[in-house]
Amino acid sequence: MPTYSLLVIDDCFSSEKSIPKHMARRRFFSSMANIETVTLSPEEALENAIPKRHFDLTLIDFDFKHSSRSEIDGTNLSAITRRHKDTPVYLYSDGLYDTSYAQQPPNMERFVSYSDFANANIIFEEIKNIRALNSSFSNIKLDRVDQNDISSMVKLSRPVLDLFGCPASDERSFVASMPSEIWSLLTKDQSAVPNGGLSPTILTIRWFINSLHGCEGFLLDEPAAARFLGINLEFFNRIKSSLKRFEYKGLFNKSNSKRWWLSKLQSYIYELDKEHEIQSSRDFPVIAARVLGARADDVAECIVCGKEGPEALGRFKHEIDVHPVHFRCSRVQLDNSLQSPFTRPRLIES
Ligand SMILES: [Zn+2]
Repeated sequence: MPTYSLLVIDDCFSSEKSIPKHMARRRFFSSMANIETVTLSPEEALENAIPKRHFDLTLIDFDFKHSSRSEIDGTNLSAITRRHKDTPVYLYSDGLYDTSYAQQPPNMERFVSYSDFANANIIFEEIKNIRALNSSFSNIKLDRVDQNDISSMVKLSRPVLDLFGCPASDERSFVASMPSEIWSLLTKDQSAVPNGGLSPTILTIRWFINSLHGCEGFLLDEPAAARFLGINLEFFNRIKSSLKRFEYKGLFNKSNSKRWWLSKLQSYIYELDKEHEIQSSRDFPVIAARVLGARADDVAECIVCGKEGPEALGRFKHEIDVHPVHFRCSRVQLDNSLQSPFTRPRLIES
């Protein structure tokens, strides 16, 4: 008996000229144990053939190369699929698409490359995570919410904090950084709920993708973790197996690239700093590099001036790669959609 349900909209299901790759994809979607998959062509979706039942997740192909309707792509279908307000919608593409720091498609939760999901277990995990989030939110019952009372917010959010595996030291700021609409949605008075009534789960997935996982803040990706520890990427890669226990193991970790908890890395360095040399945040990367055993060649250097002590990551205009950079050698990029403590890479003038 299938336990979970998936809706897939893909043009390879409509084309008679389907090439073998597409047949493989059809087999892939129909092979998933425990997941009942409904597959539709874009034409069928446009003709309102989407069943009115609940789905755990919707996957939509981005590029309809084989569709008779050449004017449409996956993003056009968001309005139709959004009628299922509590079903997350992911857009997927065959092409190489860098999702790091990328803007997400409008009205959808995520953009994934097909290769990210070309393993049935990952889809299965993803759906289990979505269910877990739904059930945690349904266990949070609020009459009213005082968002200034952080201690009681933390208490109420316990089921959700546990799903993320949030360290105790981060709990208060973690809850404060989540979109306030979530708490409004959970209260009885939903009169002032914006966002077209999207569910707390969907708002949380968007927040995860755009802020928690997509930005420097509570979690750090490889370049950010290396920069934070005052070392270069090569040295970080050599020692990262020793940092395994500080990796993010919470919701959606299997379908996203690796992250490390900043606060856990920080406490580890303080533990290693037996001489108590760290007196200020300025000292931190210097001492961190030393206690981790970095030599002169292993220390992080600014991409612009080549000197030590870069305080941030930055990127050149129109480039995806990020590099360690000094504040003085780069410019801040203002992004009003981000709330503290999340930041995006700075801009480096080339
Ligand atoms: Zn510099």
